[in-house]
Amino acid sequence: MRVLVTGGAGFIGSHLCDLLLRKGHRVICMDNLITGSMANISHIKSEEFQFYKHDVSEYIEVEDRLDYILHFASPASPIDYLRLPIQTLKVGALGTHKTLGLAKKKRASYLLASSSEIYGDPLVNPQHEDYCGNVDPIGPRGVYDEAKRFAEAMVMAYHRVHGVDTRIVRIFNTYGERMKIDDGRAVPTFIYQALLGKPITVFGDGSQTRSLCYITDTIEGIYKLICSNINDPINIGSEEEITILELAERIIKLTRSKSKIVHNPLPVDDPKVRRPDITKAKRLLQWEVKVSLDDGLRMTIDWFKNLSK
Ligand code: UDP
Repeated sequence: MRVLVTGGAGFIGSHLCDLLLRKGHRVICMDNLITGSMANISHIKSEEFQFYKHDVSEYIEVEDRLDYILHFASPASPIDYLRLPIQTLKVGALGTHKTLGLAKKKRASYLLASSSEIYGDPLVNPQHEDYCGNVDPIGPRGVYDEAKRFAEAMVMAYHRVHGVDTRIVRIFNTYGERMKIDDGRAVPTFIYQALLGKPITVFGDGSQTRSLCYITDTIEGIYKLICSNINDPINIGSEEEITILELAERIIKLTRSKSKIVHNPLPVDDPKVRRPDITKAKRLLQWEVKVSLDDGLRMTIDWFKNLSK
């Protein structure tokens, strides 16, 4: 297939480009590099790979045939979307509209990278795809949550009105190689702090939970969805739910760090719990997590160690 990956120089996008190339597809990668990085794709030497620096919120011109569009462009870390609120809203709304328009024109299939953030600060746990969420539209996280909610609505409208063959993946917390050390998310921040012996900054009392999925498992789930014919949203994430305090303690143990835990204020609207119900992914995609949290964290820690050498 000839596949367009928006946000292809980002954390998840670049791993997806790697997998698509390994599977023998041709990849057109588009990114405006406001949070993505050329370092994430500089290892790709394949002639089947092309990179275009472009903001997908603006009109997209692609010559030739396209079989699939994978819309992964968006700031995705809380500190990034708080720093870039308007770009976040634009890429979720205008970028989704532009890429859907391109899919319609090219008669290409389409996959939207949505997020567990569409469930907001959930009032039910775990979150099944039927749960409609609990989002404050004008809170600081609303720019990301509402952009993804709008994007899902737009995808379903193009599917229903224009018959575009669409998929929606709701990605839960993912971690692994190529996360930015300074992107503010818990895993890279704690690893960085632990490796340098700095205080580990747990927000609030650390009782809030997340379920962390290693990047190779996430990408495999996404690829299975790409190859399926499922138009309804599918959760992809780990069912192993841990508190942020436990995560900090686990990273201290795995890095054999002497760092101490300090407690900083909890950000506004920080979800108290998060765990996917992945019954649908298991049944319809035969997908489940293979890499344990300890193994995934070990590989991620090794990668960050080598980075600092
Ligand atoms: N967190 C923390 N210390 C940090 C960074 C994050 O305690 O230095 C917490 C954050 O408040 C949230 C959880 O870790 O409760 C996961 O945050 P992250 O930014 O990784 O992802 P989110 O799931 O909130 O998008």
